[in-house]
Amino acid sequence: MNLLEETKFLMKKYKIKASKSLGQNFLIDDEVIQDIVDGANIEPDDLVIEIGPGLGSMTKLLLEKAKKVICIEFDMKMIKILNDRFIAYDNIELINQDVLKIDFNELIKQEKEAGKIKNVKVVANLPYYITTPIIMKLLESNLDLKSITVMVQKEVAERLIEIPSGKNTGAITYTVYYYCKSTKIREVSNTSFIPMPEVTSEVINLELRETPAVQVKNKEVFFKIIKFAYMQRRKTLLNSLLNSGLFKSKEEGVKILKVLNLREDVRAENLTIEDFARLTNILFIR
Ligand code: SAM
Repeated sequence: MNLLEETKFLMKKYKIKASKSLGQNFLIDDEVIQDIVDGANIEPDDLVIEIGPGLGSMTKLLLEKAKKVICIEFDMKMIKILNDRFIAYDNIELINQDVLKIDFNELIKQEKEAGKIKNVKVVANLPYYITTPIIMKLLESNLDLKSITVMVQKEVAERLIEIPSGKNTGAITYTVYYYCKSTKIREVSNTSFIPMPEVTSEVINLELRETPAVQVKNKEVFFKIIKFAYMQRRKTLLNSLLNSGLFKSKEEGVKILKVLNLREDVRAENLTIEDFARLTNILFIR
């Protein structure tokens, strides 16, 4: 049976109607699954955390490669199917919970203490309606993670893996770049899923950096500046930071921009990540 036949068989057997509100688009393309798993570079002593395993199409391959696979799935119907399908495996753990409510630090700590696990890797065909909160949670929780390999909507992927000040840059680009080195693995057509999503997808790999891309005196201030700068990206940086209260006065803003060798009419997208870091360090100590 190929993956399409297997998916249809499982959906019929368990009377599954894909839930739109849970972002259920099941992969039916063996080649894509293989590319995601290859892109994740899984080694025998890795712990893999799979978010939204669904019917388990990718889980099967992950179980064969990793020391242990922890599946986090919100839909109880999927948990039942995964339980039936993988009953013979002793390296799977199923968690029926909302991924956004999981305490990843605690989960990883327990696994590292308990087993001979070397690296922790997240692998997922993400539910697209919560892509950004999931990525932000994984990056901002200071997790002991090696990599994140995920399929997301193409437009989102382009923003995530863009370099700061590129044409697809948004505030989240800086977060990803600060924490990770990213690469595109492949594009995936909407015909690789049932039901077919309206959008094209992309698989990306984020390798967590040993040290962040830039040194800042305060991470919160750094990301706050970027957030405000990009929230009103058509405005000048001077006006955005004045409106948000980060510059106390126009005079102060002009002076700081001058010290940074930036023009008064500079906009967020003209700044490099190093510029934002230097701006943070000035604002933090003033
Ligand atoms: N991995 C499967 C595949 O590739 O065929 C399914 C991927 S489907 C795009 C997303 C999966 O995430 C679904 O199984 C859905 O039930 C699950 N999901 C949706 N929201 C979730 C949440 N908040 N927490 C955990 N899982 C969730």
